[in-house]
Amino acid sequence: MTHITENDRAAGRCDGCGNIYTVRLSPDGEIEPIGVPAGCTQCGGTEFTVLGRADGSPSAP
Ligand SMILES: [Zn+2]
Repeated sequence: MTHITENDRAAGRCDGCGNIYTVRLSPDGEIEPIGVPAGCTQCGGTEFTVLGRADGSPSAP
């Protein structure tokens, strides 16, 4: 079962076009944009860089 919690969410930037999404961090390190399962709606990219946690704490190294 996948359960999304507040702690799983972060801001992420598309590596392809720089569009910002809310992303979910999976336990195995995958970064998945929330609401856009097919990838970036602008460029179709599926690689994202985490900018920071949604709760404001810095992302873990
Ligand atoms: Zn993009």
